[in-house]
Amino acid sequence: MAKADNRPKITLACEECKRRNYITTKNKVNDRDRIGMSKYCSWCRRHTPHKETR
Ligand SMILES: [Zn+2]
Repeated sequence: MAKADNRPKITLACEECKRRNYITTKNKVNDRDRIGMSKYCSWCRRHTPHKETR
């Protein structure tokens, strides 16, 4: 069933300025597809949608 070590690293990039602000590991169980979340962007100085990128 669940394979061990199947936890890919992903980068979260701000949708507004396209900067890559966060690097995290994806939870394969919860996020099988590309994920997006609202995070604080220090460049935009506010919360913006961040999307998974490679
Ligand atoms: Zn930004």
